[in-house]
Amino acid sequence: MSGRTHGRSCPQRTCVGCRECTDKGALLRMVLIGGSLIPDLRGRLPGRGAYLHPVPSCLEQAVRRRAFNRAFRGPGPFDLAHLREHVERIAQQGQQAP
Ligand SMILES: [Zn+2]
Repeated sequence: MSGRTHGRSCPQRTCVGCRECTDKGALLRMVLIGGSLIPDLRGRLPGRGAYLHPVPSCLEQAVRRRAFNRAFRGPGPFDLAHLREHVERIAQQGQQAP
């Protein structure tokens, strides 16, 4: 990766799990609401957001490196139940192709 950022022409965000910089559309936005991480499926929830690939491996990496604490500037712990459920559902859908 180069040290320069070209973030203006096409929106890119960094996955808090694998730290890969990716097109915003490929990442799941989440926000912190009342101590819970909520997947922002419509991109409309207010507040500070963080981005994650909606895959279990990135979620686990983010948990392990406490990326959520950094992203949301809080000591945690954060309730990951909603986020985890959503990511696992997507993973299952990917495996069970119709
Ligand atoms: Zn990732």
